[in-house]
This record gives sequence, structure tokens and C-alpha cells, in this order.
Amino acid sequence: MLHGDGRLSQDIDPTDRSPQDACGVFGVWVPASETGAAEVSKLTYYGLYALQHRGQESAGIAVSDGARIVVFKDMGLVAQVFDESVLNTLRGHIAVGHCRYSTTGSPTWENAQPTFRSTEDGGLALTHNGNLINTLELAARLEPGQLTATTDTEVLTALLAGARRSGGDSSALGRTSPDDAAMEILPAARGAYSLVFMDERTLYAARDPEGVRPLVLGRLERGWVVASETAALDIVGAAFVREVEPGELLAIDENGVRSKRFAQPRPKGCLFEYVYLARPDTTISGRSVHATRVEVGRRLAREHPVEADLVIPTPESGTPAAIGYAEAAGIPYGQGLVKNSYVGRTFIQPSQTIRQLGIRLKLNPLREVIEGKRLIVVDDSIVRGNTQRAIVRMLREAGAAEVHVRISSPPVAWPCFYGIDFATRAELIAGNLSVEEIRTSLGADSLGFISLDELIAASQIGKDRLCRACFDGEYPIPVDEGSRGKHLLEVANTRS
Ligand code: SF4
Repeated sequence: MLHGDGRLSQDIDPTDRSPQDACGVFGVWVPASETGAAEVSKLTYYGLYALQHRGQESAGIAVSDGARIVVFKDMGLVAQVFDESVLNTLRGHIAVGHCRYSTTGSPTWENAQPTFRSTEDGGLALTHNGNLINTLELAARLEPGQLTATTDTEVLTALLAGARRSGGDSSALGRTSPDDAAMEILPAARGAYSLVFMDERTLYAARDPEGVRPLVLGRLERGWVVASETAALDIVGAAFVREVEPGELLAIDENGVRSKRFAQPRPKGCLFEYVYLARPDTTISGRSVHATRVEVGRRLAREHPVEADLVIPTPESGTPAAIGYAEAAGIPYGQGLVKNSYVGRTFIQPSQTIRQLGIRLKLNPLREVIEGKRLIVVDDSIVRGNTQRAIVRMLREAGAAEVHVRISSPPVAWPCFYGIDFATRAELIAGNLSVEEIRTSLGADSLGFISLDELIAASQIGKDRLCRACFDGEYPIPVDEGSRGKHLLEVANTRS
């Protein structure tokens, strides 16, 4: 499935978006002697640039010079929000950054991150990737009027700042430590959260006990970096050290990296990161995302073989699996669809009007490659199915003799409550139709999805260490029955 940028020009329902990830988070600490330079804000800018695929709605950076925190954020892509002159004003030696796609709260400036709260002895700036499932329960701990925005992240920030305000002195400097606030608040938070936050002197990173969303620690020659994906470490020249452990809180300052455990780890990493969400040049739990996708393609070829002349991907997310499929099937691989590489992701993704502009951006068939051929077209996932339907029609119009669709994930039949805005179950085509019914709906000659077992095998991660709820409905972090019931009710209504 395509990202928001390379959408087809025809026949696509503007609501048929690819799954959107919640966010990208990034943080950097360098020695205080570097405070005068804008180095940390520039490193954060490049880190966010590498994580842009995780959220294109807003971007922000908070910087501390040791005495005060300055936050700059706005709607838009990282390169639209920041320029050289803005970055030059963000001077300090600690920074956190964020690129956002809204999964809770509306796409407004107030909900952009980093969120910031004043405390009695300074401030707290926080970034979050994931989605809490007990936000209302947590918000009930706050005084009325304490919230200025509508996100789970704002609730967390207010709680951490509030706990910091009410807590006792816990450092040699006589200041309240955010470590203690986090150790008190985080065990009460349920859901997915990879957090990067800071006060004036310390950079913090924390990951939920399930470790649903990725978060890694890297080392600079002089300093430390935390980021959603290893690809962001590569881009700023940081060496990968290790993953932040599920249930772990890291504090980074001039004394190095300190680790505390606020909960026992119950690893349930998101399987969909391997399918679509993460960059192919990222490594999660020691497994290359690109290698996983190629291996999924090989396994897909063995599970769903078909006689054909050419294997093509839907660029670019279907490419590694198409390469693997072609290799295993012994069928030539080629480019049958050309994506306009100069089209960025559409600005402010969730806006209907802007999304419709995005749809007009071209993905063009290469007629001379396609004409008369029996094609296998490989895509990463099907959400609502409208994009694939348009691709099949476009390929037929370009002269394809046959169009066989192969999908490198199992049918997405359940919503995600942990930070990906899959549609409700009623809107998911696989939540309502059988594979054969989906094939008919797409107009394909055949349709094959990789099985869940084969996808898990390709990831080389144990099944019990993965969240795979959008495929099998088994939610590793219990979801409020009301929420599940709502989705089930919607399905029931659709069917009746
Ligand atoms: S439900 Fe799917 S997308 Fe959401 S965390 Fe689990 S595997 Fe990932």
C-alpha cells in the first residue's frame, strides 16, 4: 500500500489512507560545554527528518541550555517547520524532537509536540510515540482546568509535571527529580508509550512494559541519542548501543546513562512495524526490517504460487517483498508502476481537502512493461481496499493480461489501539469480507495473503513476544470491552 504521497490519480476514496503511525521521537544530550552551539537542534532536525515517515502532520523541537527550555513547533513537515534561522535560535545542549500524526486528539497546533509544562523549579518537555488506552482514568488524577490540549500525551505531561511539583527534594541540588515523578506515574499508564522527555539538565527515555513501539539508545562521540528507529541514529552518526528495554526509564546527563525499571518487561513489539511502519533500513529487536520484508516475499511465493510473467511492487513499500517473491518464484522482477519521487507526503495528512490533493499525485503504469503480461503485484497490506482496486484497474487498462495480487501481511481485520489509526473494524475490508470476496471486490484474477505464522517466522521474533492484534484480534494489553464492543457492534450493524 502506498503512503500518502504516491497515491493514484483515479478512483480512490480519499478516506482510504495507508495505516498512519503515531509519531517519531528523538532526543539528544551533549556536554554542557556545547551549550552555545545550535548543534543539538540541528541533530534533532536531521533525526526527525529520518523519522518523517512516522508522522507528517506537525513537528517540534525543545532545547535546553541548562537554565531554560525553549520549544518551537508547528503544523507541517519537518523541513517546512524548521529552517536554518529557526534552528540557530534553538541553542543548548539537550533537545527532544517529535513528528506527529494524530491518533488521539485533533490535528491542531496545541496538540503538536513536544508538550511543555512549567514546574516549580523549571519545566518539562515531552514527546510520545504510541497511544495510551486509559487516558480518561489518568486524566481523573488531574485538577479541573489542568489540561490545555486533548491528547494522552498532554495528560502524561501534566501528570509528570504535577508529580514533580508535589514531590519531595530528591537530588543533591535540592530539586525534585523527574525520575521520581516518572517512577510514580508510568506504572499507572496503560497502552503503548515510547517517551523522550527532558528538564533543563537531563534527557529521559522510557518505554511501556510491552515495548509496543520501538525506542533505541545511540552513542555520539560526545553525547547520547535516543530515537524511534535505528535509521535515525545512522543519519546523525550515532552508534547503536541498545534498545530501551520495555518497562525501563533512562536518565542521561553528565554522569552518563542511568537505568531504572518501573515495571517488569512483557515484550509485545508491534508486528506491523516489520510489515510497513518502520523504515527498511531500521533494525528492530536485532532483526533487519528490509531482510524481514524480503523473506516475507519468499514465503509468500511459496504459500501462494501462480504462473506469471512478471512480479512488480506497488512502490515503494511493496518493493522488498516483491524482490523476495520474484527470487523464490523464479519469475522476473520489474517496475511496472512509477511513483513520482518528487512528491512529498501531503501536508497536514488528516485534512480531507488536502488528502484529495494528494490523491491527484501520480502513480503511473509503464505500459510497455505491462502490456500483454501476466502480472503479480505485491503490496504490503490492505486496509480498505480502494487503493488496490484502483491499481488493478489501472494495470488492466495498461494492457495487463492477468493481475494477481499478493499481500505481504495477513488480512488486517482488527483495529489497533496502540498508536496506529487503522479504521474501525467495520471499515476494514478484511473485517467484513472473506479473501475470495475481497478478490472479487478488487477485480483481481487471484489474491493471496501471507499467513500469520509465516510472517512471524520471517520476523525471527517469537510469537509470544509480538503484538499481532490487528491480524488475530488478540490484544496483549487488555482493551476496554466498551471499545472492543463498539467496533464489534459496528461490524454487526454493517452486516445487518
Ligand atoms: S494491533 Fe497491529 S499495528 Fe497495532 S501494535 Fe499490534 S501489531 Fe502493531
